[in-house]
Amino acid sequence: MILRKTLIFAGFVLLLGCGGQGTDQPGADVNPFFVDYDTPFNVQPFDRIDEADFVPAFEEGMARQNAEIAAIVDNPEPATFDNTIAALDRSGELLGEVSRVFFALSGSNTNDELQEIQKQISPRLAAHRDEIEMNPRLFERIKAVSDERESLDLNAEQLFLLEYLYENAVRNGALLDNEDQARLKEINQRLSELRVEFSANLLAETNAFKLVIEDEADLAGLPDAVIETAAATAERDGLENAWVFTTHKPSMLPFLTYAEDRDLREQLYTAYTVRGNQNNENNNKAVIAEIVNLRVEKAKLLGYESFAHYTLEPRMAGTPDKVYDLLDQLWAASLPVAKREVAEMQAIIDGEGGGFELAPWDWWYYAEKVRKAKYDLDDNELRPYFELNNVRDGVFYVANQLYGLTFEELEDMPKPHPDAQVFEVFEADGSHAAVIYMDYHPRESKRGGAWCGRFRSQNRADGVEVDPVINLVCNFTTPSEDRPALLSLDEVETLFHEFGHALDGMLSNVTYRTGVRSPDFGELPSQIMEHWAMNPEVLKVYARHYETGEPIPDELIAKIENSNTFNQGFNQVEYLAASLLDMEYHTLSEPAELDINAFEETYLDEIGLIPEIIPRYRTTYFSHITGGYAAGYYGYIWSGVLDHDAFAAFEETSLFDQETANRFRTEILEVSGSKDYMDMWVAFRGREPEIEPLLRNLGLH
Ligand SMILES: [Zn+2]
Repeated sequence: MILRKTLIFAGFVLLLGCGGQGTDQPGADVNPFFVDYDTPFNVQPFDRIDEADFVPAFEEGMARQNAEIAAIVDNPEPATFDNTIAALDRSGELLGEVSRVFFALSGSNTNDELQEIQKQISPRLAAHRDEIEMNPRLFERIKAVSDERESLDLNAEQLFLLEYLYENAVRNGALLDNEDQARLKEINQRLSELRVEFSANLLAETNAFKLVIEDEADLAGLPDAVIETAAATAERDGLENAWVFTTHKPSMLPFLTYAEDRDLREQLYTAYTVRGNQNNENNNKAVIAEIVNLRVEKAKLLGYESFAHYTLEPRMAGTPDKVYDLLDQLWAASLPVAKREVAEMQAIIDGEGGGFELAPWDWWYYAEKVRKAKYDLDDNELRPYFELNNVRDGVFYVANQLYGLTFEELEDMPKPHPDAQVFEVFEADGSHAAVIYMDYHPRESKRGGAWCGRFRSQNRADGVEVDPVINLVCNFTTPSEDRPALLSLDEVETLFHEFGHALDGMLSNVTYRTGVRSPDFGELPSQIMEHWAMNPEVLKVYARHYETGEPIPDELIAKIENSNTFNQGFNQVEYLAASLLDMEYHTLSEPAELDINAFEETYLDEIGLIPEIIPRYRTTYFSHITGGYAAGYYGYIWSGVLDHDAFAAFEETSLFDQETANRFRTEILEVSGSKDYMDMWVAFRGREPEIEPLLRNLGLH
């Protein structure tokens, strides 16, 4: 991508067409962000966007928004909802457009040039936002509208937007004096620089390590598919007669699960857990320490006890106490389960005469043995039923059964990366609903994990319906020469999960552009989809053997169901330890000399984490907490309470109950971001959330 070929070619044709007159080749130097895209569904023209286009487009975007803001504050008319609140919501269209493309590519298809631009542009964007949030004349007008809100005859969505914009300005320093505002601006700029530094370091560290195996004997225990993929990776790296494993999860986890060589497992897992913590040029310890301290200072400046108090205020949880209530309860329930799991595995080790104590790099290997022994379930037996495109069709099937959506693959579309698939999404009545890009496999230009972003959000702020364009990105098992991509159970759940985020975007039905996002409610639409993924009725539809087309046998489905609570102690403890660590950093009430390793160790000791488990993310590669999930990693389990309780509404009726699905669509997915979370929940479920279904399903009683 980011080639100019198409455009230059188009210019050439045009030149011939008009007889070759003039030296001015139209189009060749035009910034694609400044002209009509002229693409199907008006998607961004990825094939015409060059790295050099971004900075001028960012600059023009900021200039245009500044002009829009000036027009709002210079308006001689008294402030009204339309000339101030709606006008503010509409401002910055170009800037939003450029930002969505730029940050999507920085995450999934970056290069040195984009990284450099990101370094330069991030503090400038932070400063630009601050100028708006702390503009005293703008705030005066927002406040004037807010003061009169009772008499303005606003609908619920307008009222919510007004309150949100008012609160947001206050939370971003509108009420501070000049001196404090100046300091807040400095903090925000520095924070934006540090966030970029953190992720650049992490990407470099992830790509830096490779476990190169040259002796075939070292592959003992590994399934053929894993060996083939490792050979393909080696070949890509220009290595002959070798196998390469990396710290990307689709490469690392199968190795940890099957490799008999304990030393090699230790090498690979250790390489994963020391990323950003090696005192080299990619050291993230000082970066995160400075981030944490600046956040405390920011929270204090704004009158909050800690950054967690500040950041949780507008979320469903509201306060750190509420978060700890839930996390502590689950921690207490999960830790004994994890200890039992250790004992089971230690018994296997001892039975084999191993003569060592289970270590963190042994967990996957022995857990797999327990799974085979106890449930007779082998990941390799399952994978042939989870060919990537079959799983994707399963996701589409569920979306169809619930909401009537259908999907059609599009060819010849501009793509953010050539590997991406593109689909048009239709409503049940055949009308256009959305466009979705799906980009599945790891590469060095992509950060780890899976996520779902938006190239465009649905809205009708300008009075015209804008349709969503969704971008789903994963890091799944790659195909090899001999077989297609066969997914693990985890990866299958992840695809359903991310597609739930996609549905949240595709079915949005709001007026304004400003949407409120919160991790503790935002994972409900995604996590509820995981329940359908593993449902026997649904598995029968999509889990078909990639060679024979046979549906997955009942016996395998039964095994999956039986093993539902398998390894849950580990899953919960690994996750909760990271969540608690996130909260511990962000409930600091004073800046502190932070020795990151000592801080981690002391705290994890204090909560009683067992030495066999390392938190799912250690501080130096915990990218959730440098971004929007700061004091927010708990959101997955908070949403977990909601998704188990929400799915129970289908269990109480039927798997695809149309009335329940419709209520989930209209009360949750359609209004997401434009309404109070608890109100949305109660409108769907008829009562406040209950934790019981979560505890029951995870076997944590
Ligand atoms: Zn998610």
